[in-house]
Amino acid sequence: MSRVEVDVVVLGLGAGGEHAAHKLAETGLAVVGVERDLIGGECPFWGCTPSKLLIHSAQRGDDFARAAARIREANHDWHDEQHAGPLEEAGVRLVRGHGRLAGPGRVEVGGSTYDARLGVLLNTGTAPAVPDIEGLADTPYWTNRDVMRQEQPPGSLVVIGAGPIGAELAQAFVRFGTEVTLLEAGHRILGPEEPEAAEVISGVLRREGVTIRTDAEVTGVRHVDDGFVVEVDGETLAAEQVLVAVGRSMNLVDIGLETVGLDPDHHRVDTDERMRAAERLWAVGDITGEGDYTHLSIYQAQVAVRDLLGEDGPWADYRAVGRVTFTDPEVGSVGLTEEQARAAGLRVAVGRADIARSARGWISEADGIVKVVADADRGVLVGGTVVAPYGGEVLGLLTTAVHAEIPVGTLRHMHFAYPTFHRAIAAALGDL
Ligand SMILES: Cc1cc2nc3c(=O)[nH]c(=O)nc-3n(C[C@H](O)[C@H](O)[C@H](O)COP(=O)(O)OP(=O)(O)OC[C@H]3O[C@@H](n4cnc5c(N)ncnc54)[C@H](O)[C@@H]3O)c2cc1C
Repeated sequence: MSRVEVDVVVLGLGAGGEHAAHKLAETGLAVVGVERDLIGGECPFWGCTPSKLLIHSAQRGDDFARAAARIREANHDWHDEQHAGPLEEAGVRLVRGHGRLAGPGRVEVGGSTYDARLGVLLNTGTAPAVPDIEGLADTPYWTNRDVMRQEQPPGSLVVIGAGPIGAELAQAFVRFGTEVTLLEAGHRILGPEEPEAAEVISGVLRREGVTIRTDAEVTGVRHVDDGFVVEVDGETLAAEQVLVAVGRSMNLVDIGLETVGLDPDHHRVDTDERMRAAERLWAVGDITGEGDYTHLSIYQAQVAVRDLLGEDGPWADYRAVGRVTFTDPEVGSVGLTEEQARAAGLRVAVGRADIARSARGWISEADGIVKVVADADRGVLVGGTVVAPYGGEVLGLLTTAVHAEIPVGTLRHMHFAYPTFHRAIAAALGDL
C-alpha cells in the first residue's frame, strides 16, 4: 500500500468538489481529487444540462433525435475530459476509484492512502432514490440517467414522483408526443413549492395532455412483453416505460464516515457555517441536506475553500437560496414559502399578482403568478415565488430583495420597466 502526503483530498468530484479542487490547486496547494465515475458529477452528464436540453428541444418542437444529439454533444458522449483537463492543468492530481475516509485527514483509494495535511473535502453527492414498490426492482425502469441516453421517446410513460424532475420531464415528453401519466403520492405536484405555483403548473400540464394523479398509491410494478403494468390505487395502468423520479438518495454508504466519528446511518452530513463536518473534514453539495442544487454545491465549496485557506468568511447563509423548476412556465422561488414563514413564527404578510392580468402576461398569453412573503415586523421579504415565462430569470430580483433585505418600501418605489414579467412583482408588493 502506497502512502502519499498532500494538502487537501477532495473525495467526490461533483459540482462543488470540482470547483474546490480547482480553486485550491490554483493557490499552489497539493490537491488530490478522487472520483469513481465521471468528473463533474450528476449535473453535466445526467442532470441539469441534459434535462434542460431536452426541455428546450421539446419547447422548440424539435425532433427527439436532435435533442439526443445535442445531449451527446454537450457531454462529449459521456466522457469527462472537459472536466478532467482543466483540473489537471490547475495541478490537481486525479485518482480514479471509490474512496473511503480512514480517519481524520485520511482517504484510501484502491491500494493507496492519501494523508491530507489540511483536511478532506467530501462531495459524494446523490443517486436516484428507488422506492420500495413491489416488483419494481425486477423491471427495467428508467431513472434520470436512462432518460438522457434515449434516442427515441416512448409511446407512453408513467412518471412516479412529481417533484421538479418528474414535472419537468413529464412536460418534455408530452411535448415530444408521449402519452404521459404523472403519479404523485402527496396532495399536489411540486410539493415543497407554494400551492399557487403547483396549481398553475398542474393546469398547464393537464391542458397539454399529461394525466396527473395526486394522492396516488403505487402498490406494484411489473414488466410484461410489451411494456409495464403499474398498479395504482387498486387499478392497473399499462405503459411502454416507467420513469422513477421520487427524489435522491445520498452517496454515504461505505465512505468511512464512522472513522471520523460520524454516524454512517444519519441521512445527511451535518455541517456548520464554514462547511465543517468533523475533524479535518468539510462537506459540500447534496449530502449536506441544504438543497439539491448545483449553484448551492458551488456556493458551499466557495465557503469551504475560504475556510481551508484561512480567510475570514463570509460563511454559509441559506436565507436566500434560489431554485428553479424548468417547466414552461418556469417556477422560480427563493427563501421561505408562506407556510414555512408562518411555521418559523414570523408575523407574515403575503402579496399576490396574476401574470395573466399583467400587460406582458396578456400580450404573451402567459399563465403564472407572483407571490411575495414578507416579515411584517421587519418590513422585508423573506420569500418569493414567480411562475412565468423566464420565471427563473425574473427570480433574480426577488433573490436580491431577500438576500440584501431591501425594505419593502424601497422595493415598492423602484422603476419596473413596462411591459415586462418582472413588473408583476410591483403588483404583488402593492398587494402586501
Ligand atoms: C434530472 C436532474 C435535473 C437537475 N436539474 C438541476 C437544475 O436545473 N439546477 C440545479 O441547480 N440542480 C439540478 N439538479 C441537481 C444537481 O444535479 C445537483 O445538485 C448537483 O449535481 C450537485 O451535486 P453534488 O455537488 O452534491 O455532487 P454530484 O453531482 O452528485 O457528484 C458527486 C460525485 O461524487 C462521486 N462519488 C460518490 N461517492 C464516491 C466515492 N466513494 N469515491 C469516489 N467518488 C465518489 C460520484 O461519482 C459523483 O461524480 C438536477 C438533478 C437531476 C438528477
